[in-house]
Amino acid sequence: RAKQKSRGTISLFQPEMDQQIRDRRVLHQDLSVAIKNGELSLAFQPQGAAGHSVAESEIIGFEALARWQHPVRGQVSPAEFIPIAEESGLIVEMGEWILREACREAASWPKPLQVAVNLSPAQFMHGDVVGLVHSILLETGLAPGRLELEITEGVLIEDFDRGLALLRRLKALGVRISMDDFGSGYSSLSYLQAFPFDKIKIDRAFITNLGRNPQSAAIVRAVIDLGHGLEMSIIAEGVETVEQLAFLAKEGCDGVQGYLLGRPLPIGKYAGLVGRAEVMELALKTG
Ligand code: C2E
Ligand code: MG
Ligand code: MG
Ligand code: MG
Repeated sequence: RAKQKSRGTISLFQPEMDQQIRDRRVLHQDLSVAIKNGELSLAFQPQGAAGHSVAESEIIGFEALARWQHPVRGQVSPAEFIPIAEESGLIVEMGEWILREACREAASWPKPLQVAVNLSPAQFMHGDVVGLVHSILLETGLAPGRLELEITEGVLIEDFDRGLALLRRLKALGVRISMDDFGSGYSSLSYLQAFPFDKIKIDRAFITNLGRNPQSAAIVRAVIDLGHGLEMSIIAEGVETVEQLAFLAKEGCDGVQGYLLGRPLPIGKYAGLVGRAEVMELALKTG
Protein backbone atom coordinates (compact mmCIF):
# COMPACT_ATOMS: atom_id res chain seq x y z
CA ARG A 1 0.00 0.00 0.00
CA ALA A 2 2.85 2.31 0.87
CA LYS A 3 4.44 1.47 -2.45
CA GLN A 4 1.27 2.27 -4.30
CA LYS A 5 1.02 5.55 -2.51
CA SER A 6 4.52 6.65 -3.44
CA ARG A 7 3.95 5.59 -7.05
CA GLY A 8 0.80 7.65 -6.95
CA THR A 9 2.75 10.63 -5.69
CA ILE A 10 5.17 10.40 -8.58
CA SER A 11 2.45 10.11 -11.19
CA LEU A 12 0.74 13.14 -9.64
CA PHE A 13 3.76 15.30 -10.39
CA GLN A 14 4.35 13.91 -13.85
CA PRO A 15 1.44 15.51 -15.72
CA GLU A 16 2.18 18.85 -14.07
CA MET A 17 5.75 18.78 -15.31
CA ASP A 18 4.63 17.76 -18.78
CA GLN A 19 2.18 20.62 -18.69
CA GLN A 20 4.96 23.04 -17.75
CA ILE A 21 7.11 21.83 -20.61
CA ARG A 22 4.18 22.10 -23.02
CA ASP A 23 3.43 25.60 -21.74
CA ARG A 24 7.00 26.65 -22.34
CA ARG A 25 6.98 25.13 -25.83
CA VAL A 26 3.79 26.97 -26.75
CA LEU A 27 5.08 30.21 -25.21
CA HIS A 28 8.28 29.81 -27.18
CA GLN A 29 6.33 29.40 -30.43
CA ASP A 30 4.23 32.45 -29.62
CA LEU A 31 7.30 34.44 -28.62
CA SER A 32 9.01 33.68 -31.92
CA VAL A 33 6.34 35.72 -33.75
CA ALA A 34 5.78 38.32 -31.02
CA ILE A 35 8.18 40.90 -32.44
CA LYS A 36 6.80 40.61 -35.96
CA ASN A 37 3.24 40.88 -34.60
CA GLY A 38 4.04 44.01 -32.62
CA GLU A 39 3.29 42.39 -29.26
CA LEU A 40 6.51 43.52 -27.62
CA SER A 41 6.85 46.96 -26.11
CA LEU A 42 9.00 48.79 -23.61
CA ALA A 43 8.01 50.16 -20.24
CA PHE A 44 10.18 52.91 -18.76
CA GLN A 45 10.86 53.29 -15.04
CA PRO A 46 12.32 56.54 -13.74
CA GLN A 47 15.68 56.66 -11.98
CA GLY A 48 16.33 59.60 -9.69
CA ALA A 49 19.21 61.19 -7.83
CA ALA A 50 18.76 60.12 -4.20
CA GLY A 51 17.26 63.07 -2.34
CA HIS A 52 15.74 63.26 1.13
CA SER A 53 12.25 63.39 -0.35
CA VAL A 54 10.59 62.45 -3.64
CA ALA A 55 10.45 66.13 -4.62
CA GLU A 56 14.20 66.43 -4.04
CA SER A 57 14.99 63.31 -6.09
CA GLU A 58 15.57 64.72 -9.55
CA ILE A 59 14.84 62.27 -12.39
CA ILE A 60 18.05 61.61 -14.31
CA GLY A 61 17.03 58.71 -16.53
CA PHE A 62 14.91 55.65 -17.14
CA GLU A 63 15.37 51.89 -17.23
CA ALA A 64 13.74 50.24 -20.25
CA LEU A 65 11.90 47.02 -19.35
CA ALA A 66 10.49 44.59 -21.90
CA ARG A 67 6.74 43.91 -21.95
CA TRP A 68 4.90 41.21 -23.87
CA GLN A 69 1.21 41.51 -24.54
CA HIS A 70 0.23 37.95 -25.46
CA PRO A 71 -2.88 37.85 -27.68
CA VAL A 72 -4.61 35.30 -25.42
CA ARG A 73 -2.83 35.38 -22.05
CA GLY A 74 -2.46 39.14 -21.79
CA GLN A 75 0.68 40.51 -20.14
CA VAL A 76 3.38 37.87 -19.67
CA SER A 77 6.08 38.78 -17.14
CA PRO A 78 9.65 39.23 -18.41
CA ALA A 79 10.67 36.95 -15.54
CA GLU A 80 8.82 34.26 -17.52
CA PHE A 81 9.56 35.07 -21.16
CA ILE A 82 13.16 36.33 -20.97
CA PRO A 83 14.44 32.93 -19.75
CA ILE A 84 12.51 31.20 -22.55
CA ALA A 85 14.01 33.60 -25.07
CA GLU A 86 17.44 32.94 -23.56
CA GLU A 87 17.28 29.17 -23.78
CA SER A 88 16.00 29.15 -27.33
CA GLY A 89 18.36 31.77 -28.72
CA LEU A 90 15.44 34.08 -29.53
CA ILE A 91 16.98 36.57 -27.13
CA VAL A 92 19.53 37.65 -29.72
CA GLU A 93 16.86 38.98 -32.08
CA MET A 94 14.68 40.20 -29.23
CA GLY A 95 17.55 41.90 -27.43
CA GLU A 96 18.45 43.70 -30.62
CA TRP A 97 14.88 44.96 -30.97
CA ILE A 98 14.85 46.08 -27.30
CA LEU A 99 18.16 47.93 -27.57
CA ARG A 100 17.22 49.67 -30.82
CA GLU A 101 13.78 50.64 -29.52
CA ALA A 102 15.17 51.99 -26.22
CA CYS A 103 17.88 54.04 -27.97
CA ARG A 104 15.48 55.35 -30.61
CA GLU A 105 13.06 56.41 -27.89
CA ALA A 106 15.71 58.09 -25.73
CA ALA A 107 17.19 59.90 -28.74
CA SER A 108 13.77 61.49 -29.31
CA TRP A 109 13.46 63.00 -25.81
CA PRO A 110 13.81 66.77 -25.62
CA LYS A 111 15.82 66.33 -22.38
CA PRO A 112 19.12 64.41 -22.69
CA LEU A 113 18.30 61.90 -19.93
CA GLN A 114 20.00 58.52 -19.46
CA VAL A 115 18.52 55.26 -20.66
CA ALA A 116 19.44 51.91 -19.11
CA VAL A 117 18.95 48.66 -21.05
CA ASN A 118 19.27 45.12 -19.71
CA LEU A 119 21.58 42.73 -21.55
CA SER A 120 21.01 39.04 -21.02
CA PRO A 121 23.82 36.51 -20.68
CA ALA A 122 23.21 34.80 -24.04
CA GLN A 123 23.11 38.14 -25.81
CA PHE A 124 26.29 39.20 -24.11
CA MET A 125 28.31 36.05 -24.56
CA HIS A 126 27.12 34.71 -27.91
CA GLY A 127 26.09 37.66 -30.07
CA ASP A 128 28.31 40.45 -31.40
CA VAL A 129 27.21 42.79 -28.64
CA VAL A 130 29.89 45.41 -29.28
CA GLY A 131 29.10 45.64 -32.99
CA LEU A 132 25.41 45.81 -32.23
CA VAL A 133 25.69 48.61 -29.67
CA HIS A 134 27.99 50.54 -31.96
CA SER A 135 25.69 50.31 -34.98
CA ILE A 136 22.54 51.11 -32.99
CA LEU A 137 24.18 54.22 -31.53
CA LEU A 138 25.11 55.39 -35.03
CA GLU A 139 21.71 54.52 -36.43
CA THR A 140 19.68 56.25 -33.70
CA GLY A 141 22.08 59.14 -33.08
CA LEU A 142 21.95 58.60 -29.32
CA ALA A 143 25.01 60.04 -27.57
CA PRO A 144 26.93 57.04 -26.15
CA GLY A 145 27.20 58.74 -22.77
CA ARG A 146 23.43 58.54 -22.40
CA LEU A 147 23.33 54.74 -22.70
CA GLU A 148 23.88 52.43 -19.79
CA LEU A 149 23.98 48.65 -20.17
CA GLU A 150 22.86 46.58 -17.21
CA ILE A 151 24.36 43.15 -16.80
CA THR A 152 24.15 40.60 -14.02
CA GLU A 153 27.22 38.84 -12.69
CA GLY A 154 25.88 35.61 -14.20
CA VAL A 155 26.91 37.07 -17.54
CA LEU A 156 30.55 37.08 -16.54
CA ILE A 157 30.74 33.72 -14.76
CA GLU A 158 30.75 31.78 -18.03
CA ASP A 159 33.96 33.21 -19.44
CA PHE A 160 35.97 35.68 -17.40
CA ASP A 161 38.46 36.70 -20.12
CA ARG A 162 35.84 37.17 -22.80
CA GLY A 163 33.61 39.06 -20.37
CA LEU A 164 36.41 41.43 -19.42
CA ALA A 165 37.40 42.03 -23.04
CA LEU A 166 33.78 42.77 -23.98
CA LEU A 167 33.27 45.19 -21.10
CA ARG A 168 36.41 47.09 -22.06
CA ARG A 169 35.37 47.34 -25.70
CA LEU A 170 31.87 48.49 -24.73
CA LYS A 171 33.32 51.15 -22.45
CA ALA A 172 35.59 52.28 -25.26
CA LEU A 173 32.42 53.12 -27.21
CA GLY A 174 31.57 55.58 -24.44
CA VAL A 175 28.64 53.71 -22.89
CA ARG A 176 28.41 52.93 -19.18
CA ILE A 177 28.09 49.51 -17.59
CA SER A 178 26.18 48.76 -14.44
CA MET A 179 26.07 45.60 -12.39
CA ASP A 180 22.41 44.71 -11.89
CA ASP A 181 20.94 42.91 -8.87
CA PHE A 182 24.16 43.26 -6.88
CA GLY A 183 24.27 40.96 -3.87
CA SER A 184 21.76 38.46 -5.19
CA GLY A 185 24.33 36.05 -6.65
CA TYR A 186 27.81 34.75 -5.87
CA SER A 187 31.38 36.06 -5.80
CA SER A 188 30.27 39.64 -6.04
CA LEU A 189 33.37 41.17 -4.48
CA SER A 190 35.92 39.63 -6.81
CA TYR A 191 33.79 40.70 -9.77
CA LEU A 192 33.75 44.27 -8.57
CA GLN A 193 37.51 44.30 -8.38
CA ALA A 194 38.05 42.64 -11.73
CA PHE A 195 35.49 44.34 -13.96
CA PRO A 196 35.27 48.03 -14.84
CA PHE A 197 31.69 48.75 -13.78
CA ASP A 198 30.55 52.34 -13.62
CA LYS A 199 27.63 51.64 -11.37
CA ILE A 200 26.30 49.10 -8.89
CA LYS A 201 22.59 48.46 -8.56
CA ILE A 202 21.87 47.15 -5.08
CA ASP A 203 19.39 44.29 -5.31
CA ARG A 204 15.83 45.04 -4.31
CA ALA A 205 15.85 42.40 -1.56
CA PHE A 206 18.21 44.50 0.60
CA ILE A 207 16.11 47.62 0.14
CA THR A 208 12.86 45.79 0.93
CA ASN A 209 14.39 44.58 4.20
CA LEU A 210 15.83 47.94 5.24
CA GLY A 211 13.21 48.72 7.84
CA ARG A 212 12.89 45.08 8.90
CA ASN A 213 16.36 43.97 9.85
CA PRO A 214 19.51 45.81 10.87
CA GLN A 215 21.67 43.47 8.75
CA SER A 216 20.22 44.87 5.54
CA ALA A 217 21.00 48.41 6.62
CA ALA A 218 24.57 47.36 7.42
CA ILE A 219 24.96 45.68 4.03
CA VAL A 220 23.52 48.64 2.12
CA ARG A 221 25.87 51.02 3.96
CA ALA A 222 28.84 48.77 3.26
CA VAL A 223 28.01 48.44 -0.46
CA ILE A 224 27.72 52.22 -0.79
CA ASP A 225 31.16 52.68 0.83
CA LEU A 226 32.70 49.86 -1.15
CA GLY A 227 31.35 51.13 -4.46
CA HIS A 228 32.50 54.65 -3.77
CA GLY A 229 35.94 53.33 -2.79
CA LEU A 230 36.10 51.69 -6.21
CA GLU A 231 34.91 54.92 -7.85
CA MET A 232 31.60 53.42 -8.87
CA SER A 233 28.24 55.06 -8.34
CA ILE A 234 25.47 53.30 -6.46
CA ILE A 235 21.78 53.05 -7.23
CA ALA A 236 19.22 51.26 -5.06
CA GLU A 237 16.46 49.19 -6.71
CA GLY A 238 12.96 48.65 -5.41
CA VAL A 239 12.64 51.82 -3.35
CA GLU A 240 9.00 51.87 -2.26
CA THR A 241 8.83 54.06 0.84
CA VAL A 242 9.91 57.54 1.90
CA GLU A 243 11.76 55.96 4.85
CA GLN A 244 13.89 53.87 2.49
CA LEU A 245 14.57 56.92 0.33
CA ALA A 246 15.58 59.06 3.31
CA PHE A 247 17.89 56.33 4.63
CA LEU A 248 19.58 55.93 1.24
CA ALA A 249 20.05 59.68 0.81
CA LYS A 250 21.47 59.99 4.31
CA GLU A 251 23.95 57.17 3.62
CA GLY A 252 25.16 58.83 0.43
CA CYS A 253 23.58 56.50 -2.12
CA ASP A 254 23.73 58.23 -5.53
CA GLY A 255 20.59 56.98 -7.23
CA VAL A 256 17.20 55.45 -6.51
CA GLN A 257 14.69 53.52 -8.57
CA GLY A 258 11.40 52.01 -7.47
CA TYR A 259 7.65 52.38 -7.25
CA LEU A 260 8.08 55.41 -4.96
CA LEU A 261 9.45 57.47 -7.87
CA GLY A 262 7.37 55.70 -10.50
CA ARG A 263 6.31 52.33 -11.89
CA PRO A 264 7.51 51.01 -15.24
CA LEU A 265 5.02 52.55 -17.71
CA PRO A 266 4.73 53.38 -21.40
CA ILE A 267 6.89 56.46 -21.97
CA GLY A 268 3.84 58.54 -22.85
CA LYS A 269 2.95 58.55 -19.15
CA TYR A 270 6.26 60.29 -18.45
CA ALA A 271 6.01 62.84 -21.27
CA GLY A 272 6.51 65.75 -18.86
CA LEU A 273 9.65 64.21 -17.34
CA VAL A 274 11.33 63.72 -20.71
CA GLY A 275 10.45 67.30 -21.68
CA ARG A 276 7.42 66.68 -23.82
CA ALA A 277 4.98 68.69 -21.70
CA GLU A 278 4.05 71.14 -24.46
CA VAL A 279 3.41 68.34 -26.90
CA MET A 280 1.06 66.75 -24.38
CA GLU A 281 -0.81 70.01 -23.84
CA LEU A 282 -1.19 70.50 -27.57
CA ALA A 283 -2.52 67.00 -27.96
CA LEU A 284 -5.02 67.61 -25.18
CA LYS A 285 -6.23 70.88 -26.74
CA THR A 286 -6.58 69.55 -30.24
CA GLY A 287 -7.82 66.11 -29.13
P1 C2E B 1 15.65 44.06 -13.33
O1 C2E B 1 16.48 44.47 -14.49
O2 C2E B 1 16.32 43.96 -12.01
O3 C2E B 1 14.44 45.09 -13.31
C1 C2E B 1 13.84 45.54 -12.14
C2 C2E B 1 12.56 44.82 -11.86
O4 C2E B 1 12.05 45.26 -10.61
C3 C2E B 1 11.46 45.13 -12.88
O5 C2E B 1 10.65 43.97 -13.00
C4 C2E B 1 10.69 46.23 -12.18
O6 C2E B 1 9.35 46.31 -12.62
C5 C2E B 1 10.75 45.77 -10.75
N1 C2E B 1 10.61 46.88 -9.81
C6 C2E B 1 11.05 48.14 -9.96
N2 C2E B 1 10.78 48.90 -8.89
C7 C2E B 1 10.14 48.09 -8.01
C8 C2E B 1 9.62 48.29 -6.69
O7 C2E B 1 9.66 49.38 -6.11
N3 C2E B 1 9.05 47.21 -6.08
C9 C2E B 1 8.97 46.01 -6.69
N4 C2E B 1 8.40 45.01 -6.03
N5 C2E B 1 9.47 45.78 -7.93
C10 C2E B 1 10.06 46.81 -8.59
P2 C2E B 1 10.21 43.41 -14.41
O8 C2E B 1 9.91 44.54 -15.35
O9 C2E B 1 9.14 42.39 -14.16
O10 C2E B 1 11.51 42.70 -14.95
C11 C2E B 1 12.03 41.60 -14.27
C12 C2E B 1 13.38 41.24 -14.79
O11 C2E B 1 13.29 40.76 -16.16
C13 C2E B 1 14.36 42.41 -14.86
O12 C2E B 1 14.94 42.63 -13.61
C14 C2E B 1 15.35 41.88 -15.88
O13 C2E B 1 16.25 40.99 -15.29
C15 C2E B 1 14.46 41.12 -16.84
N6 C2E B 1 14.14 42.00 -17.97
C16 C2E B 1 13.15 42.92 -18.11
N7 C2E B 1 13.24 43.53 -19.30
C17 C2E B 1 14.32 43.02 -19.93
C18 C2E B 1 14.96 43.26 -21.19
O14 C2E B 1 14.57 44.13 -21.97
N8 C2E B 1 16.06 42.49 -21.50
C19 C2E B 1 16.55 41.56 -20.64
N9 C2E B 1 17.63 40.85 -21.01
N10 C2E B 1 16.00 41.32 -19.45
C20 C2E B 1 14.90 42.04 -19.09
MG1 MG C 1 17.83 45.92 -14.76
MG1 MG D 1 17.82 44.75 -11.11
MG1 MG E 1 15.98 42.40 -10.21
